[in-house]
Amino acid sequence: MIHDTRGSKRKSTRMNSAFAAALCLSSLLIVGSQSAQSDSGKQIVSVRISHDPIRRAEDLKDLSQFDILGVSLQQGIAEVGLLPRDMNKLKALGFQIEFSPLNAQLNREALEPYLTPSEVLDKLSSLSQTYPAITSLKTIGFTRRKRPIQAIIISSEPNDTNRPTILFNAMHHAREVMTTEVVMHAAEVLLRGFGNDQEITHWLETARIIVVPQVNPDGNQLVHEGQTMWRKNAWESDGRTYGVDINRNYPTLWGACNGSSTGKFADNYRGPGAASEPETNAMMSLVQAEKPVANISYHSFSEMILYPYGCRSEKNPSLELFKSIGADIKANLEDDSGRKNTYELGTPPELLYEADGTDADWQFREAGVVSFAMEINSRMQGFQPSHQRWRDITVKRQESAWKTLIRRTLEQGVRGRFVNQQATEISYRIVQMRSNSLEDFTGEDKTVKPFRPRSSAGLLFNTLLPGDYAINISLGNSPAKTVNFSVKKGEVTDLGDISL
Ligand SMILES: [Zn+2]
Repeated sequence: MIHDTRGSKRKSTRMNSAFAAALCLSSLLIVGSQSAQSDSGKQIVSVRISHDPIRRAEDLKDLSQFDILGVSLQQGIAEVGLLPRDMNKLKALGFQIEFSPLNAQLNREALEPYLTPSEVLDKLSSLSQTYPAITSLKTIGFTRRKRPIQAIIISSEPNDTNRPTILFNAMHHAREVMTTEVVMHAAEVLLRGFGNDQEITHWLETARIIVVPQVNPDGNQLVHEGQTMWRKNAWESDGRTYGVDINRNYPTLWGACNGSSTGKFADNYRGPGAASEPETNAMMSLVQAEKPVANISYHSFSEMILYPYGCRSEKNPSLELFKSIGADIKANLEDDSGRKNTYELGTPPELLYEADGTDADWQFREAGVVSFAMEINSRMQGFQPSHQRWRDITVKRQESAWKTLIRRTLEQGVRGRFVNQQATEISYRIVQMRSNSLEDFTGEDKTVKPFRPRSSAGLLFNTLLPGDYAINISLGNSPAKTVNFSVKKGEVTDLGDISL
């Protein structure tokens, strides 16, 4: 019965003619494509999905038992990695499939010029030697295979914790090699710009930027060794490497909405427990220690800007703020065709499928970080675009995205400093003076933890939309004080010292 329903649903999906013409050849091409398999035995197929958002979500849910690599919503196509044994299963679901151009990438040579884990460490070390006064290199944890995970802190005073912090991280997923290039380039642009570029100098004199180029170096090493489709870390069980999807391993909403798998072979295996993985813990410790105001986690591919939450059931109490910053990022960002304002903006379930245990959701709910995930590059480029053709142009185009996040984070909101108390006892919520609590920053939504001061020096800093607000401050479990304030367009309201 279920089968009949699915069959009729697919038949009613509109096909474009070029795609339809290619279909009669598709099974032949797939059978004849052994040479294009990756070391893991996977090949990539292009699968037609619906343009209607509700049907699209159903299609992608059905496809999520396979390895969905990325999608083009405009073209209505998902790229899916398939083991040979899964081919008939996919066809039985009634999907229309075609051999993907991305199969051409499944070789080690194409990966050669991309940064390896050891090259990332070398480069970070060389940057910190070239710019010792404005960098601080930190090892934030070690992977399953004992590789260091490093962060570079960039600021005119890298250790001044009384400054707001903005985080950029890349490569939760091992095969998304362009993401490391993007944030490494961001670090270099910031360092070169200090003292030369007025805006960058201003940012580095007032804030701290933290860059984590590779959250998952173990997985990336496997990719460079030839497992070009490897996504997870190097978690082992019974002497075999299965890997855990680090971006389904965070404790917020872990396993909550079928947005990950319990199967250890699955590419979105959520792990044996919430936060079971050392890579997850490294990022959590960093965020808890630094309390960033905002973050971008770089992923590829699909040309999307995603924000919380990954589960459809969850309401984001700061939706208007995320939409506003996201729209700004989108407006100036050029896609792979050189067009602006085309990235899709929304939550994972709105644009793709439900995803649980993700870093953006954890960062936002547990630490109040305005946290985005960016899916860079189009489906024509995939995970490993030609380095020669795409590396420089991609990292250059992404400059506008991370610069917009820095600009928006620092230019408008509220700041202050809590004094006369142990900063660890203080927590606060910011409530917008409007009737609709869904538009409050944290509002009365108790799922979002109250903010802690952003440093031991008692820093208060939040990016806000213009409006009238109240800040409800607590000491331990007791209400301590309420301060009313307004935020004007393009201004940061400075509350100065707040005595408690
Ligand atoms: Zn990813």
